[in-house]
Amino acid sequence: MDMDIDGTDGKPYVLIEPRKLPITKGSRNRVNYTNGESSNSLLGTFLEPKTGIVYDKRMRYHGNLHEDEHHPEDPKRITVIQEKIKDTGCLNRMVPIKAREVLPEEACLVHTEDHWDFVTKTAHMSDNELIKNADEYNSIYLNNETAFCARLSCGGVIELCKAVVEGTVTNGFANVRPPGHHAELNEPMGFCIFNNVAVAAQCLRKHYNVEKVFILDWDIHHGNGTQKAFYNDPNVVYCSIHRYENGHFYPGDKALANYTAIGGGEAKGKTINIPWPRAGMKDSDYIFAFNKVVMPIAYEFSPDIVIVSAGFDAAEGDPIGENHVSPSGFGHMTHMLKTLADGKLILALEGGYNLDSISKSALACVKVLLGEPPSKLGPIKPNQDCMETIHQVIRTQSKYWNCLAPVYYATEDRLPGQLLVDMAEMLKMYRTRNLYSKYKLIPVPLSDGKLGQRFTNLACCSGDLFRKEVVFFFVHDMADFRADTRATSNSINVSNSYMIDTVYLYIETILGNEHGIIDVDVPPVVNQPKNENQDLKDLLIFLWDNLIEATNPKKVILIGAGRGCRSLAGLINERDYSIMEKVVCTIMIPGPNEVPSVSKRTDLSTWYHNNANVLLPANHPFWDKKMKREHGSCSKIEDLNNMPVQDMLVHLHNDMFSHINQILVNGGPANSSNEEGNN
Ligand SMILES: [Zn+2]
Repeated sequence: MDMDIDGTDGKPYVLIEPRKLPITKGSRNRVNYTNGESSNSLLGTFLEPKTGIVYDKRMRYHGNLHEDEHHPEDPKRITVIQEKIKDTGCLNRMVPIKAREVLPEEACLVHTEDHWDFVTKTAHMSDNELIKNADEYNSIYLNNETAFCARLSCGGVIELCKAVVEGTVTNGFANVRPPGHHAELNEPMGFCIFNNVAVAAQCLRKHYNVEKVFILDWDIHHGNGTQKAFYNDPNVVYCSIHRYENGHFYPGDKALANYTAIGGGEAKGKTINIPWPRAGMKDSDYIFAFNKVVMPIAYEFSPDIVIVSAGFDAAEGDPIGENHVSPSGFGHMTHMLKTLADGKLILALEGGYNLDSISKSALACVKVLLGEPPSKLGPIKPNQDCMETIHQVIRTQSKYWNCLAPVYYATEDRLPGQLLVDMAEMLKMYRTRNLYSKYKLIPVPLSDGKLGQRFTNLACCSGDLFRKEVVFFFVHDMADFRADTRATSNSINVSNSYMIDTVYLYIETILGNEHGIIDVDVPPVVNQPKNENQDLKDLLIFLWDNLIEATNPKKVILIGAGRGCRSLAGLINERDYSIMEKVVCTIMIPGPNEVPSVSKRTDLSTWYHNNANVLLPANHPFWDKKMKREHGSCSKIEDLNNMPVQDMLVHLHNDMFSHINQILVNGGPANSSNEEGNN
């Protein structure tokens, strides 16, 4: 099949014979940037949007010298996309825009001259030199065609952007490679040579009446190069949705790719990172991010043009991204972005390594660019990790964008003379007083200095513990506040805000049955200290040794709810034999937190599997993973989806206590398989 794109005679730019370009900066060749004013009048004659496409089969020449090793950045990527667009009849409806090589003065609006010179030199290197040089960079391969292809790829994106700004087309898709968003100012990186999108954005700003550019990067990887290019530029928004995993996913810069990277100086708030904590994100999560963050900010920013770093490695089936965005999901994101900037929207290919997925995804985007509606999505149900991430992004960015109000409060926002009282401290005081006056529970004196400092008044127990045959060891998160915040600040409307505490329900049930209780309140943490779980585990061990071992009850029930579950599992590991002897039942309700596991040792993990009921919402990410004996006996409960742990406790209360009572009456653990059926 001949994939050549026809020439574009009569288009308002001068074509330059690619091979005749000088190889250093200072060329006398010029690209003719026409004055956008006059050609913009063409827009008035459009009956429907015109969609441009850039493709040049010569971009396939950039290849891996190790021919026996398959590299994911396969030259076929652009061919399969182009074929898909052609075979479905879409190509006939598009305006071909001819790619040309980027000029040094254009590339150097973003890159250094050293970088340009290095790339240029690769055209004449021996194979050994190419391999040696490529190895010095991060995830790069080179051949003698790399420089030409990279210039063509970058120039292609520029030409498409120009065609959009000049009104030749309304929008367009740049089917180009090598990709660009990892390319740093001074070096190639991550399969990228020149930063196509960043260079194109700078060209538009330099030569046209384009002031504000909105760059949306939905490639699965963070676009480190693009972010750096505009980090201090208040007129370019760089917004990236990417897999992050606390900095463990490529490109792996923990600080740069997190939501805390917001831009510098005058440009604070102009870098927006939406970092997924794990793989497995779906259409719902991306649409949620668009609805909550991307589109509100884009409307407030009001860009003159929108450029998408359109990698398709977040697509369903991508071997690297492992996310599940459908072609329709990409179509919807494209559709939303079309509403901005008079519809001036350019999609430039970045990554994407499953040939089938990328061609279907690109086609869905192209159809939307051509004016077709995106196909319908199912109901949007973002997962817990997505909602947590978006919450953090909004907290961080609300200082810079009115649309994300209310503005979140940080202690450094305090005015001189204002007194700060931590609500957790107020809650502790209230709780200690209440637990004693209502239930005669007394705070456990903590002899150890470090434990005392952190956990005073957080561990309480029945005063007559030594008389009890059955003792509940209950470790749970602190009470929640449900607060009515004001519209533009996060100050609380006190008369309409409440503390919600389910723990009292449990304490009353336990004491009502004449059992003893050791109750541990796990305090909230804003920035989770590294040793939080270690400290809490030390407290639990202290309580076990000094209260359980000392009073020697016949039966112990362990209940963990929320973040404390992990430390409770730690206690089980540390006091294994004593626990296997005394504990007749363990209930774990981790909520959205990770599912705790005990040691893999056969006797302990078998005991735990038979003894522990782990109650999880059906949409907990754990269900995608492989369950093991040391995770206990896990039950999937639909009704718990997205519920705060405090509410889960209410929901599970009756079933849980009838299960526990059955065990206490029968004298041993119930068959765990029955439990699963009940839920
Ligand atoms: Zn990528």
